[in-house]
Amino acid sequence: MVNYKGYYDMYILCRSLIKDDEVLPSLDFQSLERYVSQREWMPIPLKDEIADKKKDITQSIRPHISISLRDKNKVSFDIFFNGTQSVKNFMNILEKESMQEKKGFIESLKSLDERFYYILFYCEKFFSAAPEWETELEDKCKNLDDKKIEQLLKKIKELLEKRESRQSIIKKSHIATVAMSVAWVSVDRTDHELIKEVLQKVIDIFKICQKIKTYSEIKKIRKEEEKLIDIRRCPNCDCYLEYDTGRSYCPSCITPIFKEKIEKKEYDLLKSQNKILD
Ligand SMILES: [Zn+2]
Repeated sequence: MVNYKGYYDMYILCRSLIKDDEVLPSLDFQSLERYVSQREWMPIPLKDEIADKKKDITQSIRPHISISLRDKNKVSFDIFFNGTQSVKNFMNILEKESMQEKKGFIESLKSLDERFYYILFYCEKFFSAAPEWETELEDKCKNLDDKKIEQLLKKIKELLEKRESRQSIIKKSHIATVAMSVAWVSVDRTDHELIKEVLQKVIDIFKICQKIKTYSEIKKIRKEEEKLIDIRRCPNCDCYLEYDTGRSYCPSCITPIFKEKIEKKEYDLLKSQNKILD
């Protein structure tokens, strides 16, 4: 039997140690009870998710901070990407539009000390059953050098492919699924200073994870980049001028300049290289 009161007390303690209503929103006992799983863990809902049912947050494409009192006298925290869609969404950090997020994520993970782990899970289960996760990869966050990062990303790809092919073979009543835990850390339940210290680190990385773009956000950026922009170009020296300069002759060679349309991403590139004259 899960000790709901234990989770409630731990959550109240976390909220008293770290004042952050966005990440640790106010929850009364009834609302909190709804999130505690029979498998001895609890994802913390975001403020705007509290009105939803638990099912919605565990199937979310976004990760959640979770608390577990599974181990005696210990409390563990992590950032949990729960299920295939959530792990797939994480893999958007490989898109070129996510370079900043990828860098931020890796740098912040590497900066953690040896108490923190990342873990990859896989499981096949009856669709309504709780998952019995099998660990596929586990290592300390601080060990994440370039080689380990490649290994992690490769393993995630392999697991997503395995899941895809297994799903077409296994019974219709079963699902194959993957999950990932990041910044997993376990500390003594009575050491409040320590809880505050590690939870703050988990929260900082969680905020970085929240910035990972969804595929629809990436698509929107790409669409934006394909938009055409008016520009003026000198056919003689190949220089560009802003369209609204109103010039009709090139300032360097006095050749008549033409109006052209270029894609926004090309415009941004020229602009960053200072190749567009005013
Ligand atoms: Zn010119």
